[in-house]
Order: sequence, then structure tokens, then C-alpha cells
Amino acid sequence: MPHIPFRSRLFNLKTLIVLLAFFVAFITLINGFYATYEVQKQQLIKQTLDTNHAYAQKLAAATDNFIIAAHQQLAYSASVIAADIDNHSLLMTEAERLRTQTNSFNSIMITSKDSIVLATAPSTQNLVGQKISSTGALESLEAQSPFISKPYLSTVGNFVILISAPIFNQAGDYLGYVGGNIYLKQRSILNDLIGEHFHQDGSYNYVLDQNRQFIYHPDPNRVGAFTDGNIATNSVLNGGTGAIQSVNSLGVEMLAGYATIETAGWGIVAQRPVSATLLSLNEQMEQVVYRTLPLAFLTFVLIWLLATLISRPLRKLAHAAQKLDSPTAYHELINIPSWYFESDQLKKAMIKGLSLLNIQISQLQQDAATDPLTGAFNRRSLQLVMSELHEKKIPFSVLAVDIDHFKKVNDTFGHAVGDNALIALVQMMHKVSREKDIVARTGGEEFLLILPNTPSNIALIIAERLRTNIAEMEIEPIGSIKVSIGVSTSSESDFSSTEVIDQADQALYQAKALGRNRSEVFSPN
Ligand code: GH3
Ligand code: MG
Ligand code: MG
Repeated sequence: MPHIPFRSRLFNLKTLIVLLAFFVAFITLINGFYATYEVQKQQLIKQTLDTNHAYAQKLAAATDNFIIAAHQQLAYSASVIAADIDNHSLLMTEAERLRTQTNSFNSIMITSKDSIVLATAPSTQNLVGQKISSTGALESLEAQSPFISKPYLSTVGNFVILISAPIFNQAGDYLGYVGGNIYLKQRSILNDLIGEHFHQDGSYNYVLDQNRQFIYHPDPNRVGAFTDGNIATNSVLNGGTGAIQSVNSLGVEMLAGYATIETAGWGIVAQRPVSATLLSLNEQMEQVVYRTLPLAFLTFVLIWLLATLISRPLRKLAHAAQKLDSPTAYHELINIPSWYFESDQLKKAMIKGLSLLNIQISQLQQDAATDPLTGAFNRRSLQLVMSELHEKKIPFSVLAVDIDHFKKVNDTFGHAVGDNALIALVQMMHKVSREKDIVARTGGEEFLLILPNTPSNIALIIAERLRTNIAEMEIEPIGSIKVSIGVSTSSESDFSSTEVIDQADQALYQAKALGRNRSEVFSPN
């Protein structure tokens, strides 16, 4: 199986934790911003609507007051001139006084009941003596009562409204009217009253009459124009008062307050663009974002650190799992810091599994190397031992051991009893030798004892000890067995292991020949 480098995989636990946490944090943050923005926005819009409503009501009241005052001023003048209507200079003086002292009108005109102009202010208009037939004049004459005209084009070409008071003599005869003109397209009392709080941010007020015609608008070009109306306009014309969010004729979303000017039957609208209202909110939100950033950054760093901490044990366990066959696997596993339950359990399970595996492997290795009956080394592992001695140039002695007349033991007591004798023999071979010595079974009842770094004389002593110990050993039901032993030792300069074993066999043969139950050292003769 090809080895895939652990880190090259796109997704790992850490990435996933980081992504998840970032995602949740991000959504929460955005949601917080959005909710705050929406709540603030609704509040601002409501506030602005309330403010504009109050403002429209205030302007309406102010305009009403102006109209009432204007009628009073005109009525006063009418009463002053009623007694002396033919006194031209009195009329001119009164007209001029009205114009300059009250500051309510752009021009004054005193007209007889036959529509003849009796006096004007300013006097430069040269209308005195002329008969006039403008809409305002005719309607005013017809009304014979305090009157406010619709907007109309005056005789001298101004777009005006006329406010007039009738002149009656003491007998109650109608003599004409005193009229004040307000020029709608020039600076007038209306501009001063209604346009005084014109803002740079696109807020403005306007006044409509009953026919949807603009009496006042900050853009003089629109004065006199008719509007086909939006919600605010309709509300004005229904005589109501209130506030509403609507779109103006230019398609701009507006927050409008509206009220009625009762005395004239006009509607007044005070409005502010939604965008201007929300401008400060946008700036506020920017500030909020900037102020949130450091903490958000800190949160992200914390998330990163936590993700690292959480994923580390599992990442290391996964890493270790990839190389369980390495000799350092156990050591690596033990050193993995597993600070939470799942990782700890995984680590323990992996350590347990690895230990079991190692035990099984060493068991298998042992099984492959040893003889199942006696546990002595088999030929194959003997071979390995001998080549190691050869490689490391370690001198050694060999004892070749064969049971005497073993066939007879088998024949008498059976094969199983014979097997027990073999096991007992191997145990004794281990007992008389050192730990580093090797006991091997090379044939049915033939064994070798390899003694590294053991000279010939010592080897003979060990052989004799083995032989006598075996002879003295009680084996049920046989009683005892005897062995013959051949001894051979490697030469220090040049030796071959097979040669030494051969020589031990030859010595064994000699021991048999010389009567058995004895040890013989190989000699070339
Ligand atoms: P000697 O060595 O003294 O010449 O006589 P011996 O009877 O022991 O002759 P040999 O060494 O040729 O004997 C071989 C006998 O060993 C034959 C067989 O009955 C016995 N034998 C070989 N392998 C086993 C075994 O695994 N178990 C048992 N019980 N007996 C075995
Ligand atoms: Mg034999
Ligand atoms: Mg034998």
C-alpha cells in the first residue's frame, strides 16, 4: 500500500474544528450586527417619522397663525379706509403701511367693488385706475368676505395667492376689498415660515393646496405644478395628520410627517430621505465593526489554539497508527499527551493492541525457532546461531548427546514415555549449562549443546556433569537413562561450524563404540 503523507490530506480534524468554529463565530457575529442594525434602523425611522410629524404640525399651526394674523391686519386696514374710500392718498398710505409694517405680503392692492384698482403698494405698479379681471380679484369680489385664493397668475405676471378682507361702510354696503398678494415664486412670508429649516441632507418641506398644486416647494420651478400624488399627498388631501414612509416623485424613499393648515385647507409635508436618516447609523455600525475587530481576532486566535489542542492527540494517534510496525511505535504511543477521554481511551486501546500484537509475534517467532516437544532450538535456528558465532569469530565447544539404547526404552514403555525422557534430558542440558549456551535438537533423540567461549577441558567437565546428572536422574517409569557424549572445540585460527559439529559426532560415535555412558573428546586420530 502506498504511504500517503499524513499532512498532505486536505481535511483533518484541526481544519474541520477551525472551520466549524469560524463558521459559527462568523454567523453569530453577522447575525449580531444585522439584528443591531435592524433594531436601530426601525428606531431611527420611527423617531424621524415622529419628529417630522411634530414638525409638520408645528409648521401648520404657524401658517394658520399667520393667515389669521394676515386677515386681522387686512380687516383693520379695511376698517380704516371704509370711512374715506375716495381719499386716494389715504389709500396709498394705508397700502404702503400694510406692505412695509406687517411684512406679510409682497404687494398690496385696494380694489373697488367694480374691480377698479384704487391703490397699490408698491406704488410702482401703475395699476391705479385700471380694471382688473384676474381670477383672484374676481373670486375675492364675489366672496365679499375674508378670502384666500387659489394660486393664479396676476395681472402683472406674478404667480400669487391673494388674501383679502372685504370693505364695508357703516351702512353695510360692500365697497371692495383690501388684498395682500404673496408671490409664490419669490421670497415671501411663506418661504420664511416653511422653508426656514431647509437642510443639506435632502430634507425639505412643501405645501399643497386642495387641487394638489404646490403652494410652496423649495424648488421654485415646482411651485404651481400639480402633483399626481403619493401616499403623503393623499393623506394631506384627506385632511389628516400623521407620518408615513413613502417614495417621492423622484423615486427617493422619504420619511414624511404631514398636517393640515385648517384656515387655508392646505396640506403641509415635512420630510427627510431614509438614506440621510440612516447615514449616521451606517457610520455607527462601522464603528461597531472596528471596535469588534480586536476581540474577534482574539477569538479566532483562541479557536485556533483550542483546535490545535483538541486535534493534537488524535493527530498523533493517527500518525502513530500509520507506523505501528516501526520499532519505536510503542515509545511514541506512550508519549502522546491524551488529555481528554476519547483520545485517552484510543491511546490505551492502541497500546493494548500493540502489546498483544508484539506478544503474538514473539510467540510466533519462538514457535518457528524451537522444537515443539522439548523447546530446544531446531536445526534452522541452530544454523543462525552458528553463523552468528562464525561472523563474530567467537570460539566455542560442541557437545553431541545421544541416548543409549533408546529404542529399547520406546519398545518397553511406549513412545509417550520416550518423549518424556527427551523432555527431561533437555531440561537437564539447560540446567548444567549457562544462559547464553544453546541447546538444540538435531534429530530424534540426538541433541547438541553449543558452548561459546568454552575451551575443550571445560567442555569435557560440563559433558561429564551432564552425563552423570542424567544417569542419576529418576524418570518414571523408566528409572533412569544413560547418554553418550562427543566433545569438540573450534580451533582459534580457522574454524567452520559444520566441521566442529561433525567432529563432535565422530567423538560421540567413538563414545558409543567404547561402551556407551561416557564422554569422548574428538581427536584427529
Ligand atoms: P544407541 O543409540 O545406543 O546405539 O541405541 P539406540 O536404540 O538409541 O539407537 P538409535 O540411537 O539409532 O535409536 C533411535 C531410536 O530413537 C529410534 C526411535 O525409537 C527413537 N526415537 C527417535 N525419535 C524419537 C522421538 O521423537 N520420540 C521417541 N519416543 N523416540 C524416538
Ligand atoms: Mg541416535
Ligand atoms: Mg541412541
